[in-house]
Amino acid sequence: MSGLYEGIVQDLIDELAKLPGVGPKGASRIAFHLLHSDHHDVERLAQVLSEVRDKARFCTECFNVSEDDICRICSDERRDRTSLCVVEDPKDVLAIERTREFRGLYHVLGGAIDPLDGIGPDDLTISQLIARLADHTITEVILATNPNMVGEATSTYLSRQILPLGIEVTRLASGLPVGGDLEYADDATLSRAFAGRCRVGSSHANN
Ligand SMILES: [Zn+2]
Repeated sequence: MSGLYEGIVQDLIDELAKLPGVGPKGASRIAFHLLHSDHHDVERLAQVLSEVRDKARFCTECFNVSEDDICRICSDERRDRTSLCVVEDPKDVLAIERTREFRGLYHVLGGAIDPLDGIGPDDLTISQLIARLADHTITEVILATNPNMVGEATSTYLSRQILPLGIEVTRLASGLPVGGDLEYADDATLSRAFAGRCRVGSSHANN
């Protein structure tokens, strides 16, 4: 597809348009914004863009984005190590941290089980999650996957894996916008969903 503009400006628009949620219109808006921006700001952006793939890593414990082997949340001694909140993406960690409702640890799955998209349990960090539960330090797992079909299916799958271990499993209360993404819920709604979380099934492992 040939663009409206010449050379490097069109190249920039084409690259920006590949980003999620931008589209051709947004891409040209950003491109022309950059063309008129302060030289240092643009240089800083270019520098961060070129370094992000090399520098950003994932926490080896929770798989959140991290600059070190262990992220800031996992290495924070004040966090409650008996409570683990399972989310799909690092942006969900941010959304929940914003509510200040949760003081435990996280586990980032890296997506949701979605057979139509070819994503199975082995494509996510589910085996690492089960391994984290092995020493029984964690007594509650809060399933905070997105309130849409694949998120619900992932939660159901996880609760079937975790309940037999004798660990309490809870799910965020309803009230979250159904079909949406956790990150788009406002803080108050997400706070309420967290506070009102309810138990999933029951565990018979100790009976
Ligand atoms: Zn971590």
